[in-house]
Amino acid sequence: MRTKEEYHASLEAMRPNIYMGGEVLGRADIPGRDILDLTFDLAYVPEYEHLTTATSHFTGEKINRFCHIHQSPEDLMAKQEMTRISARMVGGCIARCMGIDALNTLSVITYMCDQAHGTEYFPRFEEYMKNFQKNDLVGCCAQSDVKGHRLRRPSEQADPDLYLRVVEKKKDGIVIRGAKAHNSFAPLAEEIIAIPTRFLRENEGDWAVAVAVPGDHPGVKLVCRGARYRDRAPELASLHSGKGEIESLTIFDDVFVPWERVFLCGEAEFGGQMALLFSLFHRHSYTGCKPAISDVLMGAAALIAEYSGIEKEDHVGSKLAEFISTAELVYGCGIAGAVKSTKMPSGTQVPDIVFCNVARKHAGVNIYHEYDLLCEIAGGLPATLPYDKEFLSPEVGELVRKYLKRVDEVSVEDVYRLYAWVSDYSCSGIAGVLQYAGVHGGGSPIMEDIAILRTYNMQEKKDLVKMIAGITKPDIDIG
Ligand SMILES: Cc1cc2nc3c(=O)[nH]c(=O)nc-3n(C[C@H](O)[C@H](O)[C@H](O)COP(=O)(O)OP(=O)(O)OC[C@H]3O[C@@H](n4cnc5c(N)ncnc54)[C@H](O)[C@@H]3O)c2cc1C
Repeated sequence: MRTKEEYHASLEAMRPNIYMGGEVLGRADIPGRDILDLTFDLAYVPEYEHLTTATSHFTGEKINRFCHIHQSPEDLMAKQEMTRISARMVGGCIARCMGIDALNTLSVITYMCDQAHGTEYFPRFEEYMKNFQKNDLVGCCAQSDVKGHRLRRPSEQADPDLYLRVVEKKKDGIVIRGAKAHNSFAPLAEEIIAIPTRFLRENEGDWAVAVAVPGDHPGVKLVCRGARYRDRAPELASLHSGKGEIESLTIFDDVFVPWERVFLCGEAEFGGQMALLFSLFHRHSYTGCKPAISDVLMGAAALIAEYSGIEKEDHVGSKLAEFISTAELVYGCGIAGAVKSTKMPSGTQVPDIVFCNVARKHAGVNIYHEYDLLCEIAGGLPATLPYDKEFLSPEVGELVRKYLKRVDEVSVEDVYRLYAWVSDYSCSGIAGVLQYAGVHGGGSPIMEDIAILRTYNMQEKKDLVKMIAGITKPDIDIG
């Protein structure tokens, strides 16, 4: 396992290919690195290592869980728990799930494809994965194609590059062209794992492509934008002050990929299966991080209520109960997804589709409601809070502090710290990103509906009602 210092050294040795704010940047000062740092640090904390580390099924060695292929329901539960604990600390995405969710997907689908087509993707994947584990790498997932006209299939687009595709097959590899949108933390990943985003028809084999490429590979261009929490004076700073997150429009500008890094190339029916399975693993990850975000929002609401003297009011209690219901239903579904998981022929443990999708949908449709609950309890101050300079000012500071005071027992400095952080978290540029991520990250709510309806046994429910209504006879005598 690496330390964060080793990770930094690896990032800093990468070719600058990050296009942001009119500059071409290297990886020294990219927002979000502290979040990935935590994934390395937590692997060495005795209190957490039963969650944050795992045993490699290849070597039997101890590895960071973010490099692990799930082998059991317990692995899935540990991944969920690790995600909730770490996402709470950073107040949002822990940044390392996307890559390992994509690799778990490849571990299943490459095997299935080999069985069906006699290809050699699975052994190739295993070699890749052993190296990934040995070097404790950070991966990201480039799944979401830019998609052009939403109602046109990849083969129907005016520009065929609007979905990532193979433009040339060579003896030693393939050339790919296209772009993937919204890739979280891609500039902080050493490996980009690109997989298809949708079901493909037989004539759409060119778009059935899955590869892993280094983040600074020739032809890879990361067009990025980020959001940061506001900087605060040190004496009023939060844990998050000045920190941030980043996404990338990842462009594959005729990128050559050697065969040993190609995990699907032309087998159209497995493109869709890959897309669906990544969504499933990722929605299982969400059963950890979404409750973590609810934890943070409800903690803020409860603390504001306490600092304002309204914590015992009935309407506050019922709002807090709503937070708890969202967080723990999503979390409980994640546990159920692990308990009802399936071992695939490749050996990978795959969580239950319905539980994970129900969880992700419930979290997604509630995210703005949760912010609404916080907003109602917080009042208007997150939107109008005076700056820290005025709070500390020799001229007006005393007056500002006098008029921001709430209950007797809490210092006005703590009131300010709390409201300043709530302002950042719920009323700022980065808050807007968190809200959009809450709805669309991991797939828009309609995608969860599609996955649920595809899998759910509705016929069984209709048969049940036929039996109750007397249309059919019960299988057993129930009196
Ligand atoms: C902060 C953030 C981080 C993300 N991180 C990643 C990441 O790391 N990796 C990654 O691969 N992706 C990532 N995503 C992408 C995410 O999965 C997508 O945003 C999501 O799948 C929706 O795709 P879209 O943004 O292109 O929206 P669209 O697909 O344009 O959806 C917008 C609306 O159009 C509707 N629509 C789209 N197509 C159709 C159709 N054919 N018929 C009817 N209605 C349609 C949708 O239902 C939706 O209501 C991230 C997204 C966000 C916001």
